[in-house]
Amino acid sequence: MQEIKQILSDSKSIVITTHKSPDGDAIGSSLALYHFLKKKNKDVVVIVPDAFPEFLNWMVETESIIHYDTQVEEAEKLIEKADLIFSLDYNSLNRIGDLSNPLGKSEATKVVIDHHQDPADFADHYIVDTKSCSTSQLIYEFIENLGELDKLDKAIGECIYCGIMTDTGSFRYPSTTSKTHQIIAHLIDLGVDGSKIHQEVYDTYSEHRLRLLGHALTEKMKVFPEYGAAYISLSQKELKQFSFKKGDSEGLVNYPLSIDGIKFTVLITEKEDNISFSFRSKDDFHVNKIANEHFNGGGHIYAAGGMLEVSLEEAIKKVEEVMKQYN
Ligand code: 5GP
Ligand code: MN
Repeated sequence: MQEIKQILSDSKSIVITTHKSPDGDAIGSSLALYHFLKKKNKDVVVIVPDAFPEFLNWMVETESIIHYDTQVEEAEKLIEKADLIFSLDYNSLNRIGDLSNPLGKSEATKVVIDHHQDPADFADHYIVDTKSCSTSQLIYEFIENLGELDKLDKAIGECIYCGIMTDTGSFRYPSTTSKTHQIIAHLIDLGVDGSKIHQEVYDTYSEHRLRLLGHALTEKMKVFPEYGAAYISLSQKELKQFSFKKGDSEGLVNYPLSIDGIKFTVLITEKEDNISFSFRSKDDFHVNKIANEHFNGGGHIYAAGGMLEVSLEEAIKKVEEVMKQYN
């Protein structure tokens, strides 16, 4: 931390980056660090590879976030000028898409703060705890270790709360510890309204989104009790039918896990030019290895993802084979 303190005090222009298709933890941790550094009078900006779901828009200053896919020139100028770059909630440059080009070229000091396993060698400093429930919790602890918890305020607290809430399935995954609850208690004392945040994120569905959920569970979920596994597949045609918007399938992969005896679930989504896979598991079943070995991806023990350039039919066949192999 002494070294990091020095780097922080020496740096003037700071860029915070996070992974593609940013989720609650990615945006929550990035904006929490952004607000904290602004309070320290730093010149700081958050750059994301692409859009994030609308249900995260309520966080203070989401409108100041730069989107690399639509603001390339602006983002590249900021990265070129930066003397310090934070990489939050990702462990490898392939998780940030084309944003890896300017980031890879930059000579700024690079600091990773993350909770994924096996970080790749692309930064100067790593603050990594794979046991941590979220990068947002690591941001709280980062500020704590700097001895600057007095700088926390409601805006920072809301961002950290959101990241912890979304990455712990509302404080229920095994990664939720007593420390997590102590942090949440502190945030509530700062004026953070957890109930309001829960409503912003989980009670702002469109009618289409809820009907897509109904369709997925009734028509598209295939359960294999003999393998303790289940999957849901969604084609481009179906997504269009339900006016799919970014974030609309978030959480869908978790539903089959609530069936008694099911400990491995997959959501297979047909994208414009590839197939994306979302994996979840519980108990002794670990999905990060499966994602890495068969689906060109990775992630956490109980939540992972991947991507293949195959047809939807081939993707489904592959998932069924893997389910048979690992039961
Ligand atoms: P989700 O299913 O929510 O999209 O992703 C769950 C977790 O899987 C993420 O936190 C991330 O760690 C990991 N993940 C998702 N997609 C990919 C991918 O394409 N590559 C890798 N390495 N990890 C992924
Ligand atoms: Mn995370």
